[in-house]
Amino acid sequence: ELLPWQAGVRAQFPQIVAHPGVAYLDSAATSQKPQAVLDAVMDYLTTGNANAARGTYPWANRTTALIDRTRDQLRSFLGDASARSGVHFVGGTTDGLRAVALDWLAPQLRDGDEIIVPFADHSANIEPWVEAARRARVRVRAMPYDEAHDYDTDRLRAMIGPRTRLIAATHVHHVYGNDMNVHRLRAAAGPEVPICLDAAQGFGHLPLSVAALDVDFVVFSGHKAMALPGVGAIWAANRRGPAFEPGGWHGSPNTSGIVSLSAAMDWLDRTGLDRISRWSRALGARLTDGLDRLDSYAVLGCQSSLSAGSAVQRRQGIVTFRHREISSNDLGFILESDGLLVRADGHCQGDQGEKASSVRVSLHAYSTVEEVDRLLDALAALDR
Ligand code: PMP
Repeated sequence: ELLPWQAGVRAQFPQIVAHPGVAYLDSAATSQKPQAVLDAVMDYLTTGNANAARGTYPWANRTTALIDRTRDQLRSFLGDASARSGVHFVGGTTDGLRAVALDWLAPQLRDGDEIIVPFADHSANIEPWVEAARRARVRVRAMPYDEAHDYDTDRLRAMIGPRTRLIAATHVHHVYGNDMNVHRLRAAAGPEVPICLDAAQGFGHLPLSVAALDVDFVVFSGHKAMALPGVGAIWAANRRGPAFEPGGWHGSPNTSGIVSLSAAMDWLDRTGLDRISRWSRALGARLTDGLDRLDSYAVLGCQSSLSAGSAVQRRQGIVTFRHREISSNDLGFILESDGLLVRADGHCQGDQGEKASSVRVSLHAYSTVEEVDRLLDALAALDR
């Protein structure tokens, strides 16, 4: 059962085509790669390979030009009309958040400053901020959440003061899968406080407009969005003066990674982020509804699709759950033996509690209704 556009999409992923018995349900860890991205990388490495800005010969100049073009492409992909915002290629989200925290923020912090850190989000969006605060000896405050795992903007507003120097936030939660509604943060933060967005699970999954979200930094990884591992970017608004230049990046850029990112954005534009996000949400809702009918499972992050319809709508193709008796590790092994590849562990959350061990299913453009139903059948067999 595939929508017509989607049948064409699935056929473009060689690793998926080569393994018809396998359901890859771990796209939040990393996405599979479409042929167009692989072709672009191979073409670059066999016809255009050179270091950037290191020579006067055509290969080097073309490499420099394609890196600049990818910066412009990313600005427009993020709905940024300005040509002056900064785009810095980095190794990925972890690397980029560390650069914003330690190269940009930490040197500016002064005694009495405060930063707001989302402690229920991914550790990559916690630890660098805590480290920046530790180095500068300033106070860390905990981002407030509400019961739906959304940011609580009323309490946030009350926390903002003249010494608030940064709010760190996440676009889509990597365990609950909900869109964190970051467009609501600016009104709570006021016009002055920089907002840094971890878009690891949003970039390439749903439309992301920096104009609409009104944030100052967007950081993401290419590998979760159809590109190669080892490349990502920091987009930095320049409204507070010239965009920052992170230190220590005067080495050779990851040219083939940047080529893959450019080809991935082309692919995502062609396929349509709206369609992709609607598809992932629909599959996530089907899975959540199916789990709700099984007594042995508890879905994390929303009570029930019936009582919390809006929570289901906000899930971007990530559904995390536990079995009441079977450990998540065992569940992961059982599913794996059926060719169902899921993530079973603590999901990079330094956190105890309910997220400590659970099974995460994450979907993307190439995921199918049949895969979700196969998973539900396997889970139903363990229901009691
Ligand atoms: N933030 C979030 C929300 C994530 O899901 C991830 C990936 N698990 C990261 C940050 C870290 O991304 P990377 O490993 O690509 O640096």
